[in-house]
Amino acid sequence: MTKVFDNVGIVGAGQMGCGIAHVAALAGYKVTIYDLAKERIEAGLATINGNLARQVSNGKLSEEARKAALALISGTTDINDMAPMDLVIEAATEDETVKRKIFAQLCPVLKPEALLATNTSSLSITRLASATDRPERFMGIHFMNPVPVMKLVELVRGIATEESTFETAKTFVRSLEKTITVAEDFPAFIVNRILLPMINEAIYTLYEGVGSVEAIDTAMKLGANHPMGPLQLADFIGLDTCLSIMQVLHDGLADSKYRPCPLLVKYVEAGWLGRKSGRGFYDYRGEHPIPTR
Ligand code: NAD
Repeated sequence: MTKVFDNVGIVGAGQMGCGIAHVAALAGYKVTIYDLAKERIEAGLATINGNLARQVSNGKLSEEARKAALALISGTTDINDMAPMDLVIEAATEDETVKRKIFAQLCPVLKPEALLATNTSSLSITRLASATDRPERFMGIHFMNPVPVMKLVELVRGIATEESTFETAKTFVRSLEKTITVAEDFPAFIVNRILLPMINEAIYTLYEGVGSVEAIDTAMKLGANHPMGPLQLADFIGLDTCLSIMQVLHDGLADSKYRPCPLLVKYVEAGWLGRKSGRGFYDYRGEHPIPTR
């Protein structure tokens, strides 16, 4: 596979940042993950290690490839370590203020020619680009969760994104053996514009008592042939991320059909964010997930 550069920086050692680091290292890129706290980095590297080991035990990866990929990944809490990067992918919390703050700190550190991308699920690429010093070398590279498994990457250009940036992003994504789909810069792009209102509707269905968590998930798995129920999927995505995306759709498209379900808001306010916090529509703290309603 063609590689047009070597050093990839990732901002955010959460589920997406680690997934992107995982696939980039397997493709031979040298990856540096930046996050605020040492514990986040350590937890992230442990997750990557565990996921690579699972691929080895499933026969999808050789032990040598696992070792080689791990050796290419390092973590840091010092943003200055992003200086040698050719491409930095921001995969921090889905909050525009957080992302703007990151760009303000990151841009002065980067090489002038470095590309900057965001993995945002929903925010305007054009607006985020305007918070950087390089709107022409900025775009959306939107991976799906879990990154090592999901084949699709949405590419989204802002109004100022240069053609050469787009071409380099395409080459990079292809080198990871992912399939590209191109979306225009509108709230939540393609996948989440369609998926999140469906999940939000599933939560309304629960809120209105039409069905239990189990009934709704079973209905959609067996009745619509979805591999995962919508509430299970919401827990997997993260309920905070689901809420942010619905808010972006609601604000950006000004249509009441995108109103976030109050029950989703309540779960997020409780800190029940899904799998990553141990509890959401299911409780993951025991041996098997148990519905919380
Ligand atoms: P997450 O909550 O698992 O991880 C976010 C990470 O960002 C955390 O480790 C946090 O410490 C870090 N962070 C927060 N502020 C930071 C800062 N100022 N500097 C450095 N790091 C900071 O979230 P996630 O699910 O990995 O989502 C990350 C991004 O990817 C979001 O923009 C989200 O919309 C997008 N995304 C998520 C999914 C999904 O299914 N979860 C899918 C595609 C895209």
